Amino acid sequence: MINMKNIKEYNLEDLKEELISLGEKKYRAEQIFKWLYVDKVKEFDEMTNLSLELREKLKKEYTMCNFKILKKQESADGTKKYLFDVLDGNAIETVLMQYHHGKTICVSSQIGCKMGCKFCASTGIQFVRSLTSGEIVEQILAVEQDIGDKISNIVFMGIGEPFDNYDNVMQAIKIINNQKGLNIGARHISISTSGLVPMIYKFADEELQCTLSISLHATTDEKRSSMMPINNRYNIKELMESCKYYISKTNKRISFEYALAKDNNDNLDDAKQLVKLLKGMLCHVNLIPINKIENGKYTKSSNENIIRFRDYLNENGIVATIRRELGSDIDAACGQLRRKNLNKK
Ligand code: SF4
Repeated sequence: MINMKNIKEYNLEDLKEELISLGEKKYRAEQIFKWLYVDKVKEFDEMTNLSLELREKLKKEYTMCNFKILKKQESADGTKKYLFDVLDGNAIETVLMQYHHGKTICVSSQIGCKMGCKFCASTGIQFVRSLTSGEIVEQILAVEQDIGDKISNIVFMGIGEPFDNYDNVMQAIKIINNQKGLNIGARHISISTSGLVPMIYKFADEELQCTLSISLHATTDEKRSSMMPINNRYNIKELMESCKYYISKTNKRISFEYALAKDNNDNLDDAKQLVKLLKGMLCHVNLIPINKIENGKYTKSSNENIIRFRDYLNENGIVATIRRELGSDIDAACGQLRRKNLNKK
């Protein structure tokens, strides 16, 4: 099992090559792809239009990496949070959110995270490893199987820094995006980064139709570095230059995430600085009422401050909205469920 390859790590083109290397016709790859992502079978033996011989070969060479649900929490608003067993003794989180425009999944890209953002529940959990493309894709399949319905949007905002696992995330997008498989359009896929500047340039050059979100959260290097250590590596000026390059290359709007923490980054001076920083950029600001985490130093801004902050941005030419709080009655902040599970061990 250890040396077996996960069949869900292959995009359709790679799978064709695999089938050819097994001495099979490449159209078999499309049949397998359909069984995996349209029919969502869990065993090779369910792929009944493949010969018995091919099914045996596949069983010998590949695993299907079917996650098991270790824990599931359900909020009154329909948000579901899953803790999945990734089959090597580790666990990851995936969140399902229900919006009027469809069902969105927030996927994890790594087991733990190296970035150490001070407001994040993943901080303090040791980084273990990056997820493979197949493990990223499996999160979507496992949730679709659990709810018996189709997911319409994917956001890479769970545990991990997606650009620290760049190649596997790009491969997962190719699989998710394929019309013969899960068929989730690139416009319905959003990637959030804490600001790995070289990867923002690389991503811009891919010219994908996915949405790019940047976790900004502060407008001065001093404050941003105190919240996000990554800012010591790539400061705000460098970050903004990479964002401008992305916009010029793709002509796509960037979404800046700004988590409002009481008496930290939520006063009108911060709003004024933010307007200055983003003026003239093709962008949108997503204001996030910060989720209080266990032992975390930040607390949520008052509703009054959040609304005043948003209104100031909107009145000064920066489109800003407040993210609807979902799952506030469960451990909805990224890392919380896994952290609790680890604490129990
Ligand atoms: S907010 Fe994202 S990038 Fe920052 S520590 Fe948490 S998971 Fe990592």
